[in-house]
Amino acid sequence: MPRPTVARIHLDAIRHNYRLACGLAGQAQAMAVIKADGYGHGIGPVASALAGEARRYAVACIEEATRIRAEGLSQPVVLLQGVHEAADLPTCNEQGFEPVIHSPRQLAWLKEKSEAAPRFWLKVNTGMNRLGFRPHELTSVVDQLANTGCQARLLGFVTHFACADHTEHPMTAEQTRLFEQATAPWPALMRSVGNSAAHFREGQTLFDWSRPGIMLYGGSPLESRTGLDLGLMPAMTLEAPLIATRILQPGESVGYGATWTAEHQTRMGMVAIGYGDGYPRHAGTGTPAAINGQRVRLLGRVSMDMLAVDLTQAPAAGEGDTVELWGPTVSVDEVAMHAGTIGYELLTGVTARVPRIYQ
Ligand SMILES: *Cc1c(COP(=O)(O)O)cnc(C)c1O
Repeated sequence: MPRPTVARIHLDAIRHNYRLACGLAGQAQAMAVIKADGYGHGIGPVASALAGEARRYAVACIEEATRIRAEGLSQPVVLLQGVHEAADLPTCNEQGFEPVIHSPRQLAWLKEKSEAAPRFWLKVNTGMNRLGFRPHELTSVVDQLANTGCQARLLGFVTHFACADHTEHPMTAEQTRLFEQATAPWPALMRSVGNSAAHFREGQTLFDWSRPGIMLYGGSPLESRTGLDLGLMPAMTLEAPLIATRILQPGESVGYGATWTAEHQTRMGMVAIGYGDGYPRHAGTGTPAAINGQRVRLLGRVSMDMLAVDLTQAPAAGEGDTVELWGPTVSVDEVAMHAGTIGYELLTGVTARVPRIYQ
């Protein structure tokens, strides 16, 4: 029997969350962001689960887009980082992949392959300062495209918010204003803004296409709110079996570094999951987990294949019982807060050792 440490993937939850994103997107349509293996949920099954509803997908790179085609799906797929060499452009054209062109180097590739250029987007840098052309450069970029005959393949413009997770942050409104102004000369082209967080921002326009990612999986895009608080359904339940229980006497410790020591007699259990499965090693004593719907807390350090929980709150728990590390009872966002990170990192970090079970 294989180790029953698994990630249960709830495809209905992903559909529910996608519909919620569409509802919040107002006039905009929502392209489903399924990069990084569908945020750890499995890009193929996630793409298929949304196939009846999503009119566009977005991924980081061409190999992710290829996995969507392997599911037999034909929707356009946006490549958020564009391509990494000129030779990929004709492939994009054949496959219906839409690279986001963000640099002079990528523009030069487009010129080189103008005969077989795919439909594409232009990235506008409105303040994130990772990728893209500055607003004042757009006119000259579009002129260059016209000279090479690629302009007809230009679908529109994309920008990305730096601070949308703080709903009150003034930078989002400023980026929106810069984007609107910079793209105004091309009213017939499409515009795309809006990670998940922007969907929860009162009065925020998402133009033609929003780009929800983390919210599709039930993770919170906002600081200090969990996905459950926002009405999202968790799409992953990470679970593992309780494989040993014991009673610690006062003064006894558990695990590497002996970082936690019992003050009172404490019944504890060992769970067959660790950082080798992607459970965060930085989740310390007090991080929540759940057994049979009852919340318990971690004790001591997380090992590669195991971690310890306090069974005081779950006296009926015994060997063979299933422990939820995150899911409907314990939000992945809560675990992330305890580990000093965000739900995104935990969901994308579940390793290949953990089978995904689709239900
Ligand atoms: C990943 C990504 C998104 C989705 O962001 P979430 O915060 O997961 O909703 C949207 N746009 C771009 C450009 C991205 O890279």
